Amino acid sequence: MDSGIHLVGKAGTRERFSTFNPASGSPLTDYPVATEEDVFESVTQARQAQFWWSQIPVVRRSAVLRRLAQLLCAEKESLARVITSESGKPLQEALLNDVLVAADAAVFCAENVASVLRKEDIPHANPALRFKRGQLSWEPLGVIGIISPWNYPLSIPATDAFAALVTGNAVVLKPSELTPQTALELERIISAALDAEGLTNLPRPFQVVTGLGPTGQHLVASNIDKLIFTGSVATGRRVGVAAADRLLPVTLELGGKDAMVVLEDADLDIASSAAVWGSMMNAGQTCISVERCYVHRKIYSSFVTRCLEKISKLKIGDGSLPDTDLGPLISYGQLQIVSQQVEEARALGAIVHCGGTPLPHLGSNFYAPTLITDLENSMSIMNEETFGPVLPVMPFSSDDEAVSLANKSDFGLAASVWGATSHATSVARRIAAGAVLVNDLITGFAVSAAPHGGLKKSGIGRTHGRLGMQEMLRPCYLDVDLAPRMKKLWWYPYSRNFDPMAAFTELIHAPEWRTRLSAALRSLPAFFHPRR
Ligand code: NDP
Repeated sequence: MDSGIHLVGKAGTRERFSTFNPASGSPLTDYPVATEEDVFESVTQARQAQFWWSQIPVVRRSAVLRRLAQLLCAEKESLARVITSESGKPLQEALLNDVLVAADAAVFCAENVASVLRKEDIPHANPALRFKRGQLSWEPLGVIGIISPWNYPLSIPATDAFAALVTGNAVVLKPSELTPQTALELERIISAALDAEGLTNLPRPFQVVTGLGPTGQHLVASNIDKLIFTGSVATGRRVGVAAADRLLPVTLELGGKDAMVVLEDADLDIASSAAVWGSMMNAGQTCISVERCYVHRKIYSSFVTRCLEKISKLKIGDGSLPDTDLGPLISYGQLQIVSQQVEEARALGAIVHCGGTPLPHLGSNFYAPTLITDLENSMSIMNEETFGPVLPVMPFSSDDEAVSLANKSDFGLAASVWGATSHATSVARRIAAGAVLVNDLITGFAVSAAPHGGLKKSGIGRTHGRLGMQEMLRPCYLDVDLAPRMKKLWWYPYSRNFDPMAAFTELIHAPEWRTRLSAALRSLPAFFHPRR
């Protein structure tokens, strides 16, 4: 895919790449391509920082996170402008879906880390082990590598980084080559938060390495302790294979083909507004956007009519203008993927009610918001991630059929069901996805406490919420014997212990009390054998 990225030659020995505004096509800035040595150096620095960072009290790390939320709030408008300039999304989306989500995540991490890290006493059920005390604690993994995409260039890496940092890890982030400036702004703000909390002149626990795909490969191959990858299925699979080769634990947040199910008792006005927003926001380039819409046959044609009315009112243009609803796609390559899927469906008999065409007069990356019907499940537009401003709508006749259609997918990231609350909830429970929303969509991502992640090709593991923090930790079981001189029945010599051990097993698990009593007498001698 043409990313719009151009390597701009060498400054000294270092290769650089430049970024472009997706709306205007004008060049933005150029950045160094981090080499294998650069990545390893950043991981080494992060590891040094992790040493002091993991030793400071949790309350101090929480204070840094709270400060971060304040700094994100103070810089919300300038950050939104940077995000819009790199990603093309409307300013309001940059503000709410990136800056606000990131600030919320920082506060959530600060407020919940103490309970996530709380040690847990582990009871010993077996009487032979009653003189021991067990405790489960949660320890930071060390250095977490994060590889992130361009579509939510702040909220995705920030949410993952905050969960990693607050739990005592250091982070090395490789952002998308399309949105490096947002990542560098995050690095600057994290550094400012550390300074503001008096943690100056110390190695920084958050590092950014800019570059293209190979820089990501170097990060996977480096000495990190875990990788959190968010991106496409194709790259995720490659990353997963490379990680498996060195047994590196990974969390994979991959693509989606989310279904929206509109039941016959849904509020048509609300559901049609939701379908339009859910398929068009961020120009449809959201992993949990509406990619397939199934509508009950009884309300199907009025639903389509309402959606068409609402799509016709969308203002398309440069995301930095205040009244823009729909910006450009990230690149011409992405536009070609969308266009090919629509054209394939059209050639196979689908009806394109609006859109279905690029808008070159606005810029090379603009595509008209599209509503398409008369589809078959076998079409790529119903199977593969489209990642564009396209709303495909299909009718169904029964709840069972709707559930079957929604679940007939290689993906399982999120879904939504619309209808009377109890009816929609019962249908929602039958849908196989990481998150299913009833009478709402997409905003599950903005709930800091809610886990995010998918099934099947949509990935492995969870980010966000308490589960997201736990992904950054390793459980450690500590066991202390308070009576070390007590005879261990399971030690040598086996020759004299088998029968008493069999009796001991009966003592604990035989159903009859008489058997247990006799077993108690038979197991006693073992305690008086000399230790070997
Ligand atoms: P890509 O898979 O193209 O890239 C993701 C990241 O991986 C980028 O930083 C990219 O760097 C890097 N990368 C590329 N090649 C390699 C490699 N060989 N080894 C290591 N890293 C590499 O995804 P996009 O950036 O295009 O993002 C869009 C995709 O992300 C969509 O499929 C979307 O569904 C998914 N996504 C999933 C989310 C979820 O939570 N499940 C959330 C958001 C998006 P570079 O950009 O420099 O090539």
